[in-house]
Amino acid sequence: RGTPALHVVERSDVVDWWPALGPASEKYTRGVVGVATGSRTYPGAAVLSVGGALAGPTGLVRYAGSARDEVVRQHPSVIATGRVADAGRVQAWVCGSGLGTGEEAVGELRAVLSAPVPVVLDADALTLLVDGSMADRLRTRDAPIVVTPHDREYARLCGEEPGADRVAATLRLAAWMNAVVLLKGDRTVVGTPAGRAYVNPTGTPALATGGTGDVLAGLLGSLLAAGVRADRAAATAAYLHGLAGREAARGGPVTAPDVVTALRPVIARLT
Ligand code: AMP
Ligand code: MG
Repeated sequence: RGTPALHVVERSDVVDWWPALGPASEKYTRGVVGVATGSRTYPGAAVLSVGGALAGPTGLVRYAGSARDEVVRQHPSVIATGRVADAGRVQAWVCGSGLGTGEEAVGELRAVLSAPVPVVLDADALTLLVDGSMADRLRTRDAPIVVTPHDREYARLCGEEPGADRVAATLRLAAWMNAVVLLKGDRTVVGTPAGRAYVNPTGTPALATGGTGDVLAGLLGSLLAAGVRADRAAATAAYLHGLAGREAARGGPVTAPDVVTALRPVIARLT
């Protein structure tokens, strides 16, 4: 089967899709992103996904989870609560990185999925989706969902490896889940349930290090909360994340916080 409408993401796309600031901008109209990631065991995942979200176009980041002390210490501009249900209004949720897979995590994922706003599901949220009752919730959901698996997460969701044709693999999962899929890797692919696909050309193996996926999820959530269409938000986040990885690699071996730091100049040059 041929691949319909495959698009290699270009700089001009990202410039077009990035939400511009204007004189009338204020923090609420720029969008509020909610981040439900991390745990007492993995507070770093929360700090990194919030870092990615803060680099994005939204005006406000709310954090909900048990790493709130670490998050506020690292990012004082964030409004933090313990639970998704107490977080107040947001325009998009990011859920999963370092969340754990226990009962508390299930409850937080349910709360995120019942909000009528776009969501990014990554890492432990994807593990929880392998449970069928959660997957059914996705298929009947109106607001957009973006899932961001790496290959092993993809294999757990689908029961098989992505294989050589990564575009076809991405579109298969997108159709099955009725979600936008961002399949991470050397050339990250974004696919929609309708069969549209994007390939990101900016990736770098320097990003193959712990925590960089959490940064990507946060940035993507920020773009969704700012009102960017889900497939464009995913393609934009992958493109900028790749550039930030390259920028960070100029200074030597990359760690995930370096990617957060590098996003700012990369985005500033673009906008
Ligand atoms: P995660 O595995 O969730 O931490 O995400 C890893 C991030 O690094 C994703 O954005 C991947 O696309 C990126 N990445 C990992 N390995 C490579 C590679 N060999 N080339 C380009 N990007 C990579
Ligand atoms: Mg990950």
